[in-house]
Amino acid sequence: MSATSILESPVNQFQLPSWLQECMLKQQSDQADEHIDLICRAFNFAYQLHEGQYRKSGEPYIAHPVAVAGLLRDLGGDDVTIAAGFLHDIVEDTEVTPEEIEELFGADVRRLVEGVTKLSKFNFSSTTERQAENFRRMFLAMAKDIRVIIVKLADRLHNMRTLEHLKPEKQQRISLETREIFAPLANRLGIGRFKWELEDLCFKYLEPEDYNKVKVLISDRREAREARIEQMTEILRSRLDKLGVNVLELKGRPKHLYGIYQKMQRQNKEFEEIYDIAALRIIVETNEECYRSLAVVHDAFKPIPGRFKDYIGLPKPNLYQSLHTTVVGLNGRPLEVQIRTIEMHHIAEYGIAAHWKYKETGSSDTQINSDDEKFTWLRQLLDWQNDLKDAQEYIDSLKDNLFEDDVYVFTPNGDVMVLAQGATPVDFAYRIHTEIGNHMKGARVNGRWSALDLPLSNGDIVEIITQNNSHPSLDWLNFVVSPTARNRIRQWYKRSRREENLARGRGLLEKEMGKTGIDSLLKSEPMQITAQKCNYQSVDDLVAALGYGEVTLNHVVNRLREVIKEEQPVEQVTEEQEIASLSSTVTTEVPQSKGSKSPITGIEGLLYHLAGCCKPLPGEPIIGVVTRGSRGISIHRQGCTNVEQIPGDRFVPVNWNPIDEPGRPLTYPVDIQIEAIDRVGVLKDILSRFSDQNINVRNAGVKTSPNKPALISLSIDIRDRQQFEYTINRVKNMSDILNIRRVSQGDN
Ligand code: MN
Repeated sequence: MSATSILESPVNQFQLPSWLQECMLKQQSDQADEHIDLICRAFNFAYQLHEGQYRKSGEPYIAHPVAVAGLLRDLGGDDVTIAAGFLHDIVEDTEVTPEEIEELFGADVRRLVEGVTKLSKFNFSSTTERQAENFRRMFLAMAKDIRVIIVKLADRLHNMRTLEHLKPEKQQRISLETREIFAPLANRLGIGRFKWELEDLCFKYLEPEDYNKVKVLISDRREAREARIEQMTEILRSRLDKLGVNVLELKGRPKHLYGIYQKMQRQNKEFEEIYDIAALRIIVETNEECYRSLAVVHDAFKPIPGRFKDYIGLPKPNLYQSLHTTVVGLNGRPLEVQIRTIEMHHIAEYGIAAHWKYKETGSSDTQINSDDEKFTWLRQLLDWQNDLKDAQEYIDSLKDNLFEDDVYVFTPNGDVMVLAQGATPVDFAYRIHTEIGNHMKGARVNGRWSALDLPLSNGDIVEIITQNNSHPSLDWLNFVVSPTARNRIRQWYKRSRREENLARGRGLLEKEMGKTGIDSLLKSEPMQITAQKCNYQSVDDLVAALGYGEVTLNHVVNRLREVIKEEQPVEQVTEEQEIASLSSTVTTEVPQSKGSKSPITGIEGLLYHLAGCCKPLPGEPIIGVVTRGSRGISIHRQGCTNVEQIPGDRFVPVNWNPIDEPGRPLTYPVDIQIEAIDRVGVLKDILSRFSDQNINVRNAGVKTSPNKPALISLSIDIRDRQQFEYTINRVKNMSDILNIRRVSQGDN
């Protein structure tokens, strides 16, 4: 928020809040400790620097940092946090540098001020890509020191409180951002009082008409409602007294406006139908008293089935604890009752900030460190962002996580697992361990076999049955909800393809070399040298590449022979066999128009054709083979399986003519096969990448079978090697593509 300077003197002279006045008095009276000293010095510094700056409301600018510091103090913030509240706009709005802040107030204050300044520069309502980046930085800042976020939340809350002074479009933008990002963050950090106020303020600016309706609704019936609740509290109080429960607080409270509104929308109700606008809260001393109070409530008023929630036994991830129940009130309408201890109440209001009140161990007690397992959701976010490359996916998972309603389920041992709404046994399995997910065979939910895609419900006991030879199914991607499970399934798939590829490559080598001795061959030194010569890091990589079709068998075998030759120059075993059937391969005739140069050099004047087995493209290394029939020269790709077994005396060196002569065919046919994750529209997306390049697709076939990737066969017309490689890479980069290869005849 930038300051605006207004020349005329402000109408209202700014007055220090009483807590700050006390602070200043203490400091002057020499009663000050270092904490008070830090707070006062930070205030004085900010006061001087913001001197002459005014807010849009006409107030002196210092009113804003003072209010922010006050909010942080109310939350129980330490001296460093309060000082950062005073100084949070200094770096942004004045000439002061972070180094100076560190010199004057220490490294902790500097880190907080810098963190808040950075967050302020981010425009959360920008494009998706940028938004994701902003979120990431925000969460990284958060992981370093959670106080940065709390200062930012206090800053936002005060700005929302004073939003009326801004232009309508700015009000909308800031409110939307607050509703989408800051209110959920406050909720996730458990800071209930920030969350409720932020939500109500957003409601006021984003849906002003509905906001006013709800407000009127509440005030209209206030008297009757309060009388009724008073009656109920009397009944409960006397019963609790008789039982000796020490009641610290027992009173009705109106729910926050946005909460009422959301409920109306969820239940599709009209304003007139909403009675559930107040709730009763009972605050006692001990956990045990909570449950005894619950018994009293259920005894005095009829409980509504299915509305009881025990967040004491199962705290929410944001540490919230309470008993919730809904009973039939005196007017015959439902009334929600919350029961909690004073400590739980404190955590409900202050969330993570409550911790700095209970621990006084210095500056690091509010940082999230590895032993703070309670905030696992935050860790997960940080983990996911490394997994997720796609910005949109990141945003989605982040929003899901901020808004999700959690589902609590149990392991057979009684451990609680918190999963996202809609999570299935597969999500559960991957949450326990990747290997459990990867070998999952089935699941029993509450003792019965369950479908793997069945969403889990609160309280389900889930048992995962594994089997060594079971493995994930691609179909699972259609129903898992957690990014973790999704990524693990994909990873498994890619890895498992490698194993398949290794097996396929090995099979090819066995055919050539014989089954016996293949193991020792793969471990041999010549094989390792061969792998290096073929530019692979290991023999395994080479074998996998062979299976994948990246190198041909003959290429490998020839390299291997060379290596062995070098080692044993005397023993030369080269009894190649000719492939008699070579001439039977399907071929592509290249029309030779008169007067134009051949696209292939080295065989000028000779009859030739492009081999149908490997379909070479301009730019690719080629070799000519003299055929036995009357078909002239057959042009193959170098390394074509069919060629390398032919005696060398039938080879003719040939090249593509680099000069584009008229009459040369514009395109050449190429067959490719693509393995893709089967989803609606994947073929369309692939084809669009070809049409982008003006590439004609002659033939397309798709084979699908359950739990297997879709197999897409395409015949495309390609200009040259460059175009082919460029286009193939574009297809390869699609996230759904598992494998893509060029098909030669005889391949499978
Ligand atoms: Mn500010």
